[in-house]
Amino acid sequence: MSWEDKVRKVIPYVPGEQPVGKVIKLNTNENPYPPSPKVAQVLKEYDIDDLRKYPDIYGGELRDKLSERYGLDKDRVFVGVGSDDVLATAFLAFFDSDSPVIFPDITYSFYDVWAQLYRIPYRVIPLNDDFRINREDYVTQNGGIVIPNPNAPTGVEKSVEDLEYIISNNPDSVVIIDEAYIDFGGRSVVPLTDKYENLLVVQTFSKSRSLAGGRIGMAFGSKKLIGYLNDVKFSINSYTMNRLTVAAGVAALEDEEYFEETVGKVIATRQRSAIRLRELGFEFPESSTNFIFARHKSVPAEEIFSALKKEGIYVRWWNKPRINDHLRISIGTDEEMDAMFGFLADFLNR
Ligand code: PMP
Repeated sequence: MSWEDKVRKVIPYVPGEQPVGKVIKLNTNENPYPPSPKVAQVLKEYDIDDLRKYPDIYGGELRDKLSERYGLDKDRVFVGVGSDDVLATAFLAFFDSDSPVIFPDITYSFYDVWAQLYRIPYRVIPLNDDFRINREDYVTQNGGIVIPNPNAPTGVEKSVEDLEYIISNNPDSVVIIDEAYIDFGGRSVVPLTDKYENLLVVQTFSKSRSLAGGRIGMAFGSKKLIGYLNDVKFSINSYTMNRLTVAAGVAALEDEEYFEETVGKVIATRQRSAIRLRELGFEFPESSTNFIFARHKSVPAEEIFSALKKEGIYVRWWNKPRINDHLRISIGTDEEMDAMFGFLADFLNR
């Protein structure tokens, strides 16, 4: 047996491109506005001597602030290096049975990668034709459930009532609700973690708090669930949250006003963009996120994607069944969106 036969082989997740140079970047759902000025200040004044010491294994002051902000005891809060880290740890910790973990067929394309990496059996549940989740489909034998709310890349939000229906009907599985985009107008299920011991809610600083490059994610759940998550984390790497990031995260949380203002601007631009996209011949479900998942009535998505890219305007397109006629367009500033609409008006002859 060669060494290559002993390798753990996996087809990795493919993130959106990070082009260098001056482009309009609407392809990875980053926030177009900078992090709070308080983050800049804290990092500028940071006492570098502090970096001599290992950080707190629980995320220190960042966990304290999150506990305060979300009104949950500290031992019900988990902090990770972006929500990808939190989700990867959660897959490893909670999905260890022979029954398949279930998630939507059109969803965040990292879920099946983690399942394959950890050899977790999984089954995808098709969304309806209008990209909605049918709650009854999730009342079935399973080894765990993952649902992003709002879903990505569709942008469609599911009601708290429907999610509670799914959670309450699955007391014997861990249910993960991935709320990466919840701050852009959605209703969170964090309050339900008081009631359901098996519910894990995952969020991130990458979108609404403009800190994708800072890598901060968090999870909320029962004390027992978070305890199991920490056991797995501490069995891989205890010191994942570095001190600089903790300081940046705390500063971001201390500027609620800036948070509200930025999120408000993104939502306003999304509403404006929705009108303009419809005028240009696109159709899409209503988005509760910082992106719109749209299909053009007559021009193939791949053509529009390539034409935009040539212009230095990056959006996301997947060559996958059911969604290859769609583009996912992140919400940028008004100016960025107007530049894209200007080009599209010419290109689509409208
Ligand atoms: N969940 C969903 C649904 C996402 O779209 C993303 C962003 N790619 C993530 C989780 C991970 O984000 P991050 O690791 O930056 O927190």
